[in-house]
Amino acid sequence: MIHSIGIDLTYLAAAVLFILGLKGMTHPRTAVRGNLMGSVGMLLAIIATLLAGKIFSFWMVLAGMLLGGGIGAFVALRVPMTSMPEMVGLLNGFGGLASLLVAGAEIHRAGVEHAQAIAARSAEWENIPRAVQTSMGADAPIPFGMTSDVALAVAASCLIGAVTFAGSLIAFLKLAEHPVVKQLPRSPQQQLINAVLACVCFLLLLGVTGWPQTETFFWLLAICAGVLGYGLTIGIGGADMPVVIALLNSYSGLAGAATGFVLGNSVLIIAGSLVGASGLILTNIMCRAMNRSLPAVLFGTLGPTADGPKADDVYKSVKSTSADEIAMLLDVATRIVIVPGYGMAVAQAQHAVRDLSRLLQDKGVEVLFGIHPVAGRMPGHMNILLAEADISYDLMKELDDINGSLEQTDVCLVIGANDTVNPDARTNPTSPIAGMPIINADRARTCIVLKRSLSPGFAGIPNPLFAAENCLMFYADGQKGLMEIMAALKSG
Ligand code: NDP
Repeated sequence: MIHSIGIDLTYLAAAVLFILGLKGMTHPRTAVRGNLMGSVGMLLAIIATLLAGKIFSFWMVLAGMLLGGGIGAFVALRVPMTSMPEMVGLLNGFGGLASLLVAGAEIHRAGVEHAQAIAARSAEWENIPRAVQTSMGADAPIPFGMTSDVALAVAASCLIGAVTFAGSLIAFLKLAEHPVVKQLPRSPQQQLINAVLACVCFLLLLGVTGWPQTETFFWLLAICAGVLGYGLTIGIGGADMPVVIALLNSYSGLAGAATGFVLGNSVLIIAGSLVGASGLILTNIMCRAMNRSLPAVLFGTLGPTADGPKADDVYKSVKSTSADEIAMLLDVATRIVIVPGYGMAVAQAQHAVRDLSRLLQDKGVEVLFGIHPVAGRMPGHMNILLAEADISYDLMKELDDINGSLEQTDVCLVIGANDTVNPDARTNPTSPIAGMPIINADRARTCIVLKRSLSPGFAGIPNPLFAAENCLMFYADGQKGLMEIMAALKSG
């Protein structure tokens, strides 16, 4: 009794720490403390679960922790910062797979116990005459060792876990911009196929929850839901991946919560629900940032709408510039807005960005940073990098705050951003990024784009900004280019 109360209280403490941790992570200044609180909460939850007396074998758990932890640590230490988004996507998928496997183990266990109970009754009544057996109720079915609410949780874990796993694998490949993605099959009738798959999943779900609760239904549901997860994600194109990733993150939490019901583990239900709810909030924020509707994301109806203009046509009148010319423009500017993008992360140029901004501020120039909510490859990517370089949060302005003042800006310096400053989103209704709010870099008096070439960004489409009348291209690696500009500014 005291032992059980102690476990429950520890779970409660873990849940409170999760909530405080999430609260801490809502602001960059308290994020590190929030992260620590969440980690301590998870440690408490693990210790309490190990002590709860329901562990089948400590050695198996230890071996699993060492193997999984070892692989995780090895991969996390080797993964470059620019590949973190893919890794996060993959980890979402593993969360879904874990929920699916736990639910699978539970229905397998119940199935084995059911078969053993039937065999035991047959053995027990082997020598009793058939008529007596019948009169004693030997023909009454032995109930499956799983109540209908647990069976529903098993089916939900299977469905959501498999969708999350398959969807996250595709998201991983897309984020890694792996060439295999282009070869993966997809159909022009994908939405219809998805609708049929969803109906089949529903029927299989009834099969798992109703009679007979066989493992066969479970694994058929897992396969069908996996194909559905693939179908829902494969068609997402253009720049819409951030919404899908946030949604998959939410799904992994919901799968975990369902598994909590399967195991009767309150802390797993709480942790899963927190991840599910916060993931949905993030999805909503991302939808607003991309000007997309949640149903379009949920039913996989996003995606490129047209082939769009050819790069050669768009880039007929591109003008390039040099570090010396940029230094002259910056020297006479009174207001400069720096717009970072994924290329800044690739070039690890955040410290050079800080040095340039301080150099300009020392000359009395007002320097602000325009941060697009989906710049980079994960939510908050640019804020994290700039904060790491000690750039004040007060100087980082959100899209709506910066856009109003770009027309009064002398120079907008775009560093490794592309889709998030593509005016096609505003002007071309057939563009895959049509309707997505952008940072209006093209409206500054002069726009300078620092990137290595005219290659497209994540959406894979040309950017008319680069050919705009007021735009100059500076072809260089983000970090090297900034160094050259600073050298020119100092010598000028
Ligand atoms: P983009 O992906 O549109 O463009 C990045 C640009 O960086 C490229 O055009 C590339 O051009 C340039 N670049 C790459 N390496 C370097 C380097 N070393 N130095 C200088 N430039 C470099 O970036 P944005 O940040 O503008 O947009 C983000 C995109 O990613 C959006 O489409 C968004 O939807 C998507 N996305 C965002 C996620 C999120 O959560 N934030 C998640 C998933 C996708 P070049 O090769 O010529 O140098």
